[in-house]
Amino acid sequence: MKLSDIYIQMKSINHKLSLLQLLTQDSTIHTMPHGVSFQNTLLCNLRCPHCQTHGVEEHRKYYNTINMPHEMLTRVAHEVLPTADEYLFTVSGEPLASPNFTQLLLEFFPYCAKIELHTNGTLITPEILTNLIPATKGIHISIDGATQLMVEATRKGAKYKKLLQNIKLLTKTVDLLPDKLKPLIYFGCTILGSNIRELPEIVELAYLLGVPKVYGYFVVVYHEHLNNEDVKNYKPLYNYYHEKAVEAANRLGVFLCLPPPFAGVEASDDSPIGGNNMIIENFPGDYIDKLHARSHIEDIVNIIGAEAIDIQANKIKDVIIDRYDVPKQHVDLSNLFSLGRNYLMLKKMTMYYRKMLKHYKQFLDETIQRGDAKPIKYCESLSKRIYLSPAGEITPCCYIYNPLGNISSDNVKNIWNGDVYNDFRQKFQSDNPFKECINCHNISYLSPAALCHEINSV
Ligand code: SF4
Repeated sequence: MKLSDIYIQMKSINHKLSLLQLLTQDSTIHTMPHGVSFQNTLLCNLRCPHCQTHGVEEHRKYYNTINMPHEMLTRVAHEVLPTADEYLFTVSGEPLASPNFTQLLLEFFPYCAKIELHTNGTLITPEILTNLIPATKGIHISIDGATQLMVEATRKGAKYKKLLQNIKLLTKTVDLLPDKLKPLIYFGCTILGSNIRELPEIVELAYLLGVPKVYGYFVVVYHEHLNNEDVKNYKPLYNYYHEKAVEAANRLGVFLCLPPPFAGVEASDDSPIGGNNMIIENFPGDYIDKLHARSHIEDIVNIIGAEAIDIQANKIKDVIIDRYDVPKQHVDLSNLFSLGRNYLMLKKMTMYYRKMLKHYKQFLDETIQRGDAKPIKYCESLSKRIYLSPAGEITPCCYIYNPLGNISSDNVKNIWNGDVYNDFRQKFQSDNPFKECINCHNISYLSPAALCHEINSV
């Protein structure tokens, strides 16, 4: 048995134990998180004006100094990743700016947990891609415009042509790889008053760069001097360009997920452009004409150097295939100790799982027979992940500010299975949840019978 097989089986058992815990609401069933969001650095190389943490120079200076101690990061990773499916590096900073980013990827790779990456894409290099692509589940590129003007205004510090080259190098390399090594790539776009008109062109840009999915989210305005960026000020305009973006996505076969149009508001593109308290106060006079000339974006994509990118992408592909796709013939003796230790851990987990399953067999059978039991309230973040702050505080998500434990004085297993976390889970299920959880968009409801079937599968 290979170490990777052991980790995969440990993850599967952990998954089923978590389902059993959710179904029975038995907090004595011990599990581990399925994922961890490391806020390992708050450093960002850009100065996006609408960003909560880096939008204002004074805040930016402060946040750019915050890093999680390396010892803490690796200690938690080594504890959690054997039974977890995924991890994230900072979503408040730029993960590619993390100290030792590539080293960490290599160190965590053997655990078979994949990284979900949210990046501004500007720091992508061929060296990073060789280690990043095989370790990644999804790459979310934050981009808020299609034109040079909009990209460089909303992502301050980014160079348009270089960014497009980076994205093309990524997608081209991924295209050349076998399916099992391909991460999902998508655009994440913050929709602002300034960029509503570019939504169809963002879809077009994604298509031309080989990005198959585009997600859009309304801006949350954190700074008073950008008050007029709030999309609620442009409802007819948003409805108009929402329709155009959907048309473009349908025509080009790009998956598009945008907030729905405003109900009862007639679509119109008759709206002032620019103005006070916006990221771009004065647009060039020919902005709209240029924007709607479709060839404008095609031209830009054509000048990013497709031939050079092809050559580079092929080189990266060869390195990745050599390192990650060819089974190694030799046995790594240094792994034998780890293999033995993890094999014993797997045995222990298997026995524990069988014991729990036996204990709840009748309950599972009855739930399946009944079929119509009350749906179970569910939050993926609460059930699956921990959010780890640079100071070691653990919360279920970034909306909860009161930590449920601190890793400086304890381990994840104790915190995740401890009284404070269990009380939070109980309160979440009650009629009196924490105020942050009330009407949270992460809440869904699961069928108990479906959970039983999933537990019984395999
Ligand atoms: S319901 Fe929302 S606020 Fe509550 S834990 Fe889940 S994600 Fe966080």
